[in-house]
Amino acid sequence: MGKDSIPFLDLVTTHVELEQELNEVFKHALHTASFIGGSMVEQFEQAFAEFCGTKYCAGVGSGTDALRFALIAAGVKSGDVVITVPNTFIATTEAISQAGAQPRFVDICENTYNMDPAKVRQYLEDSCTVDDQLGVVIDDETGKPVTTIVPVHLYGQMADMDALLEIAEEHGLIVVEDACQAHGAQYFSKKENRWIKAGSIGKAAAFSFYPGKNLGACGEAGAVTTNDSSLAQKTRTLRDHGQSKKYYHEVEGYNGRLDSIQAGILNVKLQHLAQWNRRREEAAYQYDKLLLSVEGVVRPYTPEWARSVYHLYVVRVPEREGLQKHLAEAGIGTGIHYPVPLHLQKAYEGQGWKRGDFPITEQIASEILSLPMYPQLSTQQQSRVVGEAARYLRNELRAEKVGVSGISLKSSN
Ligand SMILES: *Cc1c(COP(=O)(O)O)cnc(C)c1O
Repeated sequence: MGKDSIPFLDLVTTHVELEQELNEVFKHALHTASFIGGSMVEQFEQAFAEFCGTKYCAGVGSGTDALRFALIAAGVKSGDVVITVPNTFIATTEAISQAGAQPRFVDICENTYNMDPAKVRQYLEDSCTVDDQLGVVIDDETGKPVTTIVPVHLYGQMADMDALLEIAEEHGLIVVEDACQAHGAQYFSKKENRWIKAGSIGKAAAFSFYPGKNLGACGEAGAVTTNDSSLAQKTRTLRDHGQSKKYYHEVEGYNGRLDSIQAGILNVKLQHLAQWNRRREEAAYQYDKLLLSVEGVVRPYTPEWARSVYHLYVVRVPEREGLQKHLAEAGIGTGIHYPVPLHLQKAYEGQGWKRGDFPITEQIASEILSLPMYPQLSTQQQSRVVGEAARYLRNELRAEKVGVSGISLKSSN
């Protein structure tokens, strides 16, 4: 990359800045040969629970492990229907399927890109029946019990939890948060009249510490947070081959532990997370300001009840492919999260989903673009990103006005 190129994500600077502290972690592990479990894992679990405002945290092997274990520990059973969104990373539905359940999608809100509580209610009221004898909600199409909602706090912003929790309570459903992109995000609960951290509002939550997340390991890692001691205990058993005592297996579990070196690294980085999140928030504010005057760009929307940690800064633009190509040529990296909605993925062919099922998700999938976003991103770099985007869009709009190209402001598909 050229001298003034701007990567989509800069993972090198952070690690070089913390090199000495991170080396100490490795040294400690070598000198004590504690590679699995031990004090570094326990320390991190305690510190992360405190950060999230939960009683318990169980470190696991990845965010996908975290979500799978959280679902199983929360009581999701084979054959259950679990409500989630098609606008997320496939790990969300992988975890649901691997817990033995089947995902049922509802569409997202057009402004926040997160789960739309009204659509959850609509599904439960129009497409389900309450079995009065069993006291459960049954999906009319499959005849299976609907037991759980998995809202995804996408891009670092929480879903509308008051509304979702209310629906869950009315219908006797469990809520498990996919907080894999939302370390430190907050939600203002009107019901409780206070700001609540992601990971502490549902029955349990899953976090990922994949390197590119706001809090990332130097490898794979994840965690389950909860206020429920028995759920925490079940998670600890599941991650360790179903044993609570060595070689005494209560259930068949998984190899899904958090290793000590990653825990030690996360301990070091957790000290910086609040400040990194503030830097991201400042960068988002700066983008908002710079983009205000750029015609044709829809900026991220943050309701007054949400405080985002901007895992991603996602805009919507017409002619997304053209803009992405233009930025790439100018040395600016971008991403698309996500280009293909889950219900249209090849992996789910033959499940009965089709184009048109979730129109908002489908519409935004062709328009969203994630701009460079990380704590070290400078104001100058942001100005260049927005300057280049503005230049491209101005030319496109002008071309459209004089009828040179067939491009219209509204995306054609
Ligand atoms: C990253 C991510 C996951 C999975 O985490 P891994 O650590 O990669 O297994 C799950 N859900 C969402 C929304 C994610 O962004």
